[in-house]
Amino acid sequence: MRAFTGRLVACLAAVALASGAVGAGPRVSHAQATRASSAPADVKPTIILVSFDGWRWDYRDRVHLPHLESLISRGVRAEWMIPSYPSKTFPNHYTIVTGLYPGHHGIVANNIWDAATGRSFSLSNRPEVQSAMWWGGEPIWVTSRRAGQRSATMFWPGSEAPIGGEHAAYWQPFDEKMPGSERVARVLGWLDLPADQRPTFLTLYFEETDNAGHRDPLKPHVIEALQKSDAWLGELLDGLEQRGLTNVVNVVAVSDHGMAPTSRDRVVVLDDYISLDDVTVIDLNPTLGINPKPGKEEAVYRALRKAHPHLKVYRKRDTPKHWRYRDHPRIPAIVGVVDDGWQVLRRSAVAAMDAGRIPKESGQHGYDPKARSMRALFVAAGPAFREGVVVKPFENVSLYNVFAKILGVTPAKNDGDPKVVGKVLR
Ligand SMILES: [Zn+2]
Repeated sequence: MRAFTGRLVACLAAVALASGAVGAGPRVSHAQATRASSAPADVKPTIILVSFDGWRWDYRDRVHLPHLESLISRGVRAEWMIPSYPSKTFPNHYTIVTGLYPGHHGIVANNIWDAATGRSFSLSNRPEVQSAMWWGGEPIWVTSRRAGQRSATMFWPGSEAPIGGEHAAYWQPFDEKMPGSERVARVLGWLDLPADQRPTFLTLYFEETDNAGHRDPLKPHVIEALQKSDAWLGELLDGLEQRGLTNVVNVVAVSDHGMAPTSRDRVVVLDDYISLDDVTVIDLNPTLGINPKPGKEEAVYRALRKAHPHLKVYRKRDTPKHWRYRDHPRIPAIVGVVDDGWQVLRRSAVAAMDAGRIPKESGQHGYDPKARSMRALFVAAGPAFREGVVVKPFENVSLYNVFAKILGVTPAKNDGDPKVVGKVLR
């Protein structure tokens, strides 16, 4: 999910100016300030889950974002949210909605090989992304559908596949060209539906921050991406206010992972240590997922194990305990990851960098969830959430139980810590 072309700056700046929240006291909500209209009386407990892809936990320190601050002031914020291994987009988005670690739900990477079927999954492979066979566990929209509720996904990894036989009641195939304002308008439109058709769980997805961070998280264009994203959040909050829903609907803003600055100076060259003819590389950079060819397993593992001080390599059965990444048949035989801010690349990619075809400085994610740069965003406000509270970091597997509690549905078996529910909800 990259290469989003931004062309809404001027229009969004105007929206940001018009949408207020600046200067409002910390506890004064949009609705309290204006009381534009009264909420429909038949609104069930509702959640809008908003993902800002690749939003680092500490981006908030770089620039004032009035709408995010408004949400924080009347809700709960985590110091940061801990992603799951690997800290990649599809595995973590699907973890957030299922409460399962990637090593348990089966989206074990952005690039996967399934030995049982011989099929390969990647983000750009639409038929596979839309195939239910990849997506294990039970996303919250399936859980709530079983309880007779409707959901609406304005983009979310997993939402394009008929998991458990069906999609959410309303869903859209991912279209990076759809402007952020239109995504917000669709979500607000779904809330305008009559009660018997109205969804109770809705998602929004914005890739702007990830795209900017991949270019280089230290550069000023990240600020521009943050301001655009905050303006879209403002459009959502204003739309809720106009409908009298500010204190009726719950808004949860999250990210899937952070972003680390990378450089040509911090690269491990994979084929300096092994012959690429001896392996199938399933996933690369900053993660490493390889299946050695028959008879080469031991030699490849030994060659990589102590190859480089910034590359950690494990047999599948020995990966770090906190990854919960050992059991799934789709996890490659040899798994590795480089240290925060490092990269592991093929020699050909490094040559492209040296030839100026790939930038020498960029941004990357996928590292160990304990890496400081991978820490993610969690902010939530609405009738279900505590107000004016900052909670200690928690793992993103714990959100599914929070959603189930708000919607009043019985959660499927999951990896979440049930104590997080009590920490963030009233
Ligand atoms: Zn992402």
